[in-house]
Amino acid sequence: MTDGHEEWLRQIDAEIAGTLPLPQRAALARHVAACPRCAGARVSRLELEASFARAHGEPHALAVRRSVLRGRTLVRWAAMALLVGLLAGWLAHARWGGPGPGTLESSRATILVH
Ligand SMILES: [Zn+2]
Repeated sequence: MTDGHEEWLRQIDAEIAGTLPLPQRAALARHVAACPRCAGARVSRLELEASFARAHGEPHALAVRRSVLRGRTLVRWAAMALLVGLLAGWLAHARWGGPGPGTLESSRATILVH
């Protein structure tokens, strides 16, 4: 099912980087107002961006300069955040919803392999 969210997420990135033209920003704002999923993604990306700005000693920067912040670093952080979220989900599942500690160990191994 393609619902266009990937495209909106790209536009959110462009908006945060300050490179999205006004008509698209307006369309994006309209979509986000009606779409909790994209609204949530926008909030997490803004928070991620804000923490990068703080980490680079520019807590009040309008946008994180891409020359300062290598794309590779951003991808690694995003992947790490995703992995932490996955791991937390697995741990919660193994602890409260899974059949036992054996599952936890195998889940961990699966995550490490990937
Ligand atoms: Zn959406």
